[in-house]
Amino acid sequence: MSDLADRAVAAYLGLAIGDALGATVEFMSAREIEHEYGVHERMVGGGWLKLKPGQVTDDTTMALALGQAILSSGGIHAQAIAEAFDGWMRAKPVDIGNTVRRGLLAFRATGVPAVPLSEHDAGNGAAMRVLPVALATLGQGEAAVREACRIQAHVTHHHPLSDAATECLALMVQAAVQGADLAQLLHRYAYPLAGGYPAFVFRTRQRRDSPGGYIVETVQAVFQALFDTDSFRTCLVDVVNRGGDADTTGAIAGMLAGALYGTAALPDAWLKALDPAIRTACSEQAMQLIEMGCVEQRAVG
Ligand code: MG
Ligand code: MG
Repeated sequence: MSDLADRAVAAYLGLAIGDALGATVEFMSAREIEHEYGVHERMVGGGWLKLKPGQVTDDTTMALALGQAILSSGGIHAQAIAEAFDGWMRAKPVDIGNTVRRGLLAFRATGVPAVPLSEHDAGNGAAMRVLPVALATLGQGEAAVREACRIQAHVTHHHPLSDAATECLALMVQAAVQGADLAQLLHRYAYPLAGGYPAFVFRTRQRRDSPGGYIVETVQAVFQALFDTDSFRTCLVDVVNRGGDADTTGAIAGMLAGALYGTAALPDAWLKALDPAIRTACSEQAMQLIEMGCVEQRAVG
C-alpha cells in the first residue's frame, strides 16, 4: 500500500475509532468522566445511546453514506448526496443531529438539495462527515476542494463558520495524507482559520472542556488536542476526555490524527474492538475514494 493510501485508510479508521470511543462519554463533563472512569481510554460502548463496544454513530455512518453517494454518482453532486442522506435517515440511524434532520425534512418537502443561509446552522454536522469529499478531491485545486466541501455541507448546514471549518479540515486531511507534518498543519491551516475567523482562536489559556455541537467549540477542542499531543492515541484520549460532543470531537480528531500518523499508529485494541463491518467499509471506501481523486488528478495533470 502506498503511503498516501495508508494515511487515507488511517484517516477513515481514525474517524470511526474516535466516534466509537467518544460516544461513551458524549454529553458528560470532563469532571463527570474523571469521576466515573479516571481516564476514559477503552472501547466499552454504553453512553446515553447504550452502544455496543466499538459501535459508531451518525458521524461515521453519514460519512459512509456521503462516500457511497460520491462513488456511485461519480463526483460531488448535491442531489445524489441529499438522496443518500435521506436514505440514511429512513434507515433509522442510532442518532441524528437537529440541523441534519431539519435539512433533510426540507429536502423531502421541496426536493431542493441545499438549505438557505441560516444563523442556526453553525453546528458541527457538516464538518464531521467531510472526509470522503477530501479524499475524492485529492489533487484538485484549493478552490475546487472548497466548492466541493460547500456542496456537501449545504445539503443540511449553511453558515460561514461551518463552511470555513469544514473546508479547513478537508484541506488539512489532504495535506496530511500527502505527508504534511503537525507544524505544517498548524501554520498553513489552523492559524489562518483563526486569523480569518477569530471565533476559532484556540491558543488561549483556557482549555476547551465540554465542547458543544457548535462548530467553534468543536474545532477549538480538536485543535488543542491535536497540536498539544504527538500521537494518535494521546490526541484521542485528550479530546474525548473533555466530554461534551465527544463522539464528534473524537471523530474529527481521529480523522486528522489518522491522516498524520498512519495505520501503524492506530492502537490495536481500539482497531480490534471497532465494529468489523464498519472497519471493512471505512478501509474499502478510503481506497476507492483516493482512486477517484487520483484519477481526476491524472486527468487534470
Ligand atoms: Mg454522533
Ligand atoms: Mg455527537
